[in-house]
Amino acid sequence: METPSTATERPTNELVRFPIRIRELTLLRRSQVTPLMIRIVLGGPQHEGFESHIADEHVKLIFPDPETGRLAVPTQDGDRLAWPRPGSPARDYTVRQYDRDAGEVTIDVVAHEGGIAATWAATAEIGSTIWVAGPPRGILIPDSFTWQAYLADETGLPAVARRLEELAAGSVPVRGVAVIEVRNAEEEQELIVPEGFEVRWVHRGDARPGTTRLLAEAAREIEIPRDGRAYAWFGGESGSIKPLRAWAKAAGLTKGQFDFVGYWRAGAAGDEVEHHGVIHALKHLLRIDH
Ligand SMILES: Cc1cc2nc3c(=O)[nH]c(=O)nc-3n(C[C@H](O)[C@H](O)[C@H](O)COP(=O)(O)OP(=O)(O)OC[C@H]3O[C@@H](n4cnc5c(N)ncnc54)[C@H](O)[C@@H]3O)c2cc1C
Repeated sequence: METPSTATERPTNELVRFPIRIRELTLLRRSQVTPLMIRIVLGGPQHEGFESHIADEHVKLIFPDPETGRLAVPTQDGDRLAWPRPGSPARDYTVRQYDRDAGEVTIDVVAHEGGIAATWAATAEIGSTIWVAGPPRGILIPDSFTWQAYLADETGLPAVARRLEELAAGSVPVRGVAVIEVRNAEEEQELIVPEGFEVRWVHRGDARPGTTRLLAEAAREIEIPRDGRAYAWFGGESGSIKPLRAWAKAAGLTKGQFDFVGYWRAGAAGDEVEHHGVIHALKHLLRIDH
């Protein structure tokens, strides 16, 4: 996507907002991308008007309270949503693909123990319905970043996969590297990779997800070009952010030239993790490091 940046300006990323909608979608299909990655495809008449433009855009999936069964869904208020308090458990998931013609929203869900969302993705009956909010906003990465790095664990992999596909289909050459932490070789996915991009998989083996420093170690091996046109992105367990931020800053990246997002936190359920969307957008608007 071209942006107004000129050859002399240092590019920066850009927060783009979209009208946010709430809709009830139906689980159409489920498949296994890898042993730990479940692909769910949602659709149904309410997909009308769904929009997805940016690779790391997310929707919120809303679930009934597992103990009481209570379901409190936000109501539409113009282009925004009014969230009930207390609301129902909601979890963020990347739109891996939106097929407007087929009316299908594809989401890749990491299987793990004890999560409402992961359990629903693995076990809900085909034909079940689920409330879906968003996507609300996304962060646009201009093509004038001629070198880009993407680091992720499995939760960030759907966004990275979509982003690489987008770059591969684009007309502007972008070089770079993607480093993805997965359990083992069986979790490596076939990705569409742009020319000039290297993909490295790192395996945590039997270590629990969210407990290794593999991504930070792999990052130290990556030399970030110092021409003001390099961009770095991370999506995964929150503990990786601190060392990655130090790595990016040591290479001279400043605000708007990186975006590191905690997608989950080991030991904390989605509700206990900071309200990702709002906090992230606020930090972006205030140009606070994130
Ligand atoms: C913008 C954004 C986009 C995201 N996109 C995706 C995506 O496309 N696919 C995806 O799978 N996830 C994605 N996530 C992460 C996902 O929202 C969290 O993993 C979420 O906590 C899962 O909800 P749950 O109900 O299954 O587990 P929760 O009820 O939230 O957590 C229960 C327990 O499981 C642990 N846990 C949570 N996630 C994992 C995990 N992945 N591996 C191991 N343990 C875990 C928690 O620490 C907690 O102890 C995204 C997050 C954000 C903020």
